[in-house]
Amino acid sequence: MSKIIDGKEISSHIKSEVRSETEILKKEKNVTPGLAFIIAGEDPASRVYVKNKGKACDEAGFYSVTEAVPGDITESGLLDLIRRFNSDEKIHGILVQLPLPAHIDQKKIIEAIDYKKDVDGFHPVNAGKLSIGDKCFIPCTPFGITEMLRRKNIKTEGMRAVIIGRSNIVGKPVASLLLRPEFNCTVTVCHSRTPDLKSVTSEADILIAAIGRADFVKRDFIKEGSVIIDVGINRTEDKETKSGYKITGDVDYKDCFDKCGMITPVPGGVGPMTIAMLLRNTLDAAKGKIYD
Ligand code: NDP
Repeated sequence: MSKIIDGKEISSHIKSEVRSETEILKKEKNVTPGLAFIIAGEDPASRVYVKNKGKACDEAGFYSVTEAVPGDITESGLLDLIRRFNSDEKIHGILVQLPLPAHIDQKKIIEAIDYKKDVDGFHPVNAGKLSIGDKCFIPCTPFGITEMLRRKNIKTEGMRAVIIGRSNIVGKPVASLLLRPEFNCTVTVCHSRTPDLKSVTSEADILIAAIGRADFVKRDFIKEGSVIIDVGINRTEDKETKSGYKITGDVDYKDCFDKCGMITPVPGGVGPMTIAMLLRNTLDAAKGKIYD
């Protein structure tokens, strides 16, 4: 079996499953999954993310609409937009691209989204349901991570999983997921105040790095034969590329490669899985599979 967990390959399987199920849904129920994107401001990275997600929707046969609003939009203007999509029957999922401009209360915006259309899984109702083990929208990156483990047939039961990072979008939800009976991991979550981090991470059978610091995890952080999941997306200067930068993960891939058992590359690992799970969540929303 390959040592590299190829997120591109796994995500393309998921995308084709979504495409086929979408065709059936359209034929049998006359329902087209609909996703609304809201993006405020000109942040180039956010624009690229939304463009890529929109393209993935087109390829899946979804209906999608992007509302790109100026960065100086008022909070009430943004709330009005969300209310419009909340009551639009063609829209099954709403995604507000984060981060939002500083004058807008991100929490207020997320809470305004109908939790039944919260395909990002960030609404407190979905976050709460995730942590108590109820059916809910699972945030796309954690969902993508566990789906990779599942599809690679990694027997997670009883494994010690260590997560570096405690954000609401990655660290905490992936911890909740791995605690669920279908994974049954023993989970430890580390953060910037964890003393002697290496002593914790080097006991991990599964190490998930969601830190936001390029090449942070070196070979002395990891256990021999462990599964390494690199969530990080960091832009680092690279004069040899046309753009002048390259994307690297939070794990020093070359340094860890021969010591670990399996590893996700960056790019081509967790990133494409995140988009695939967004499609999955939107399709499930359209089917009424999560909430009727
Ligand atoms: P956040 O900045 O919200 O969280 C980073 C976490 O890392 C925090 O909990 C922080 O600890 C911890 N941390 C920072 N420095 C250290 C350190 N020296 N030792 C131990 N822990 C540390 O980031 P996100 O969770 O939003 O994202 C993490 C990375 O994943 C980023 O590179 C981001 O771009 C990427 N990402 C990738 C996605 C994908 O689709 N592939 C999706 C989402 C994110 P503390 O809480 O104490 O500050």
